[in-house]
Amino acid sequence: MRTPLVAANWKMYKTVRETVVYIKEFRSLVKDVDDVEIVVAPPFVSIAAAAEAARASNVAIAGQDLYWEKEGAFTGEVSAGMLREAGAGLVIVGHSERRAKFAETDRDVNRKVKAAIDGGLVPIMCVGETLEERESGQTLAVLDRQISAGLEGRTVDQVSSIAIADEPGGARGTGRTATAAQAQEAHAHIRGRVREWVGSAAADAVRIMYGGSVKPANARELMSRPDVDGALVGGASLDPRAFAEIVAGGRPGAVK
Ligand code: PEP
Repeated sequence: MRTPLVAANWKMYKTVRETVVYIKEFRSLVKDVDDVEIVVAPPFVSIAAAAEAARASNVAIAGQDLYWEKEGAFTGEVSAGMLREAGAGLVIVGHSERRAKFAETDRDVNRKVKAAIDGGLVPIMCVGETLEERESGQTLAVLDRQISAGLEGRTVDQVSSIAIADEPGGARGTGRTATAAQAQEAHAHIRGRVREWVGSAAADAVRIMYGGSVKPANARELMSRPDVDGALVGGASLDPRAFAEIVAGGRPGAVK
């Protein structure tokens, strides 16, 4: 059985002070959730404070990106080791905004996945077509390219331990969620490719999260599908109560 992973991607929102206030409230809202791995990814500058505020709770902290070198003359970049020491246990890699706005390539994503694993972080590798690619019928071809490039060179054990976040074009930040059936279809395809290219053990273990306008009202339906193992949540994760309800599978009663 795969434990669902639900992660908040805060993007470039919240200061250090706002982060600490959020985590203190959020951790008490989700303290009784024991069947979901819960992750918050704040901006780099807040990771240490977030990890401290989340200490001894069921909330893990993630980076939103990393660079593949350990150290060096790479102004503005942050390594896996630095993230880990600051208190992160995971890291988002290849988010669509990184790919589209910062020109990250599949090759970069591959190096970042490797660097994360080598540095002791669990990568959440994002894949997903753009709206244009979706409308021209390229969805599965884009997913195939991103998955094969991103995972190339990784072992069965390594692939088993990572998470893949599928964020379909047109669903991110738009309020237009994919239907649960569409998400299931794409995730089944991704798992099938992992089975073909890496093997059954990795395919059965890898968590495939859905990302794109997840809210308390649709979280349960999406995550009830067999190949949807959690969610990567942008906008709705900025509110602690809304994110807690998503974590609890959209069940407001499960949130204290
Ligand atoms: C995202 O960009 O990772 C994302 C899922 O955003 P949203 O939930 O706001 O669509």
